[in-house]
Amino acid sequence: MHPALTYIYQLQQEDSALTALKRQLDSLDPATAEKRALTALEQQYQALEVKQHALHADLQDAELKLKSLETKIQQLDKKLYSGSVINSKELSALEQDIEMLKRQRGQLDEQILLGWDEMESLKQQTETNRAHQERASAAYQSQYQRYLQTKSDIEQQAAQHLKKRKALLPHIEEAILQKYETLRGKLGGVAVAKVENDICAMCHTAITAYIKNRLKSDSVFITCESCGRLLYLPSE
Ligand SMILES: [Zn+2]
Repeated sequence: MHPALTYIYQLQQEDSALTALKRQLDSLDPATAEKRALTALEQQYQALEVKQHALHADLQDAELKLKSLETKIQQLDKKLYSGSVINSKELSALEQDIEMLKRQRGQLDEQILLGWDEMESLKQQTETNRAHQERASAAYQSQYQRYLQTKSDIEQQAAQHLKKRKALLPHIEEAILQKYETLRGKLGGVAVAKVENDICAMCHTAITAYIKNRLKSDSVFITCESCGRLLYLPSE
C-alpha cells in the first residue's frame, strides 16, 4: 500500500464528513411553513382593513343620504300641512312624493343597520386575526431561531473538519491529491475504501489473499477490482 494512503484515508474521512454536513445544511428548513402561515394571516389582515375602510366610507355616504332625505321629508311635510297647497291633485302628488321618500328612507335605514352589523363582524374577524397572528409569529420566531442554531452548529462542525483537512494537505503530494480528487469525482465522492474483514468496505467485494499481501508489502496504490477505489488496509 502506498504510504500516502494513511493521510489520504484521513482526508477522505474529513471530506465525507464535510459532504454529509453540506447535505444536512441544504436540507435545513428555515421555518418555511411557519413563515407561509404568518404571511397568509398578514395578507388576510390587510384585506380585512381594506374592507373596513370601504364599508366605513359606504356608511358615511348612506348617513349623509339619510340626512338629506329627512330634510326633504320635513320640507314636504311642512308644505303639506302649511295649507299653501289646496289643489287636490297637487296635494295627492305631494303625498305620493312623501311616501316615496319615506320608502327610500326605510331602505336606507335597513342598509345602514346591515352595514353596522357587517362592520362589527369585520372588527371581530380582525381581532381574531390579530390573536392568530401573534401565535403564528411566535411559532415562526422560535422555529427560525432553532434553524439558525442548527445552522450555526453545522457550520462550526464543518469549520473543524476543514481545519483537520487543511492540516493533512502538506503530507500529500500534489499529484496524489489530484488522483484522489479525480477518483472522488468519478466515484460518488468516495475515492478510498477501507479493507475490513477481508472485504472492500465500500462495495463489499472480497479481497483476495494475494491483494491483501500486496497491500502489506508493496508501496503502491492498489484499487478494488470491483469498485475501483484505492484500497486502504489499516495496520493491525
Ligand atoms: Zn470496492
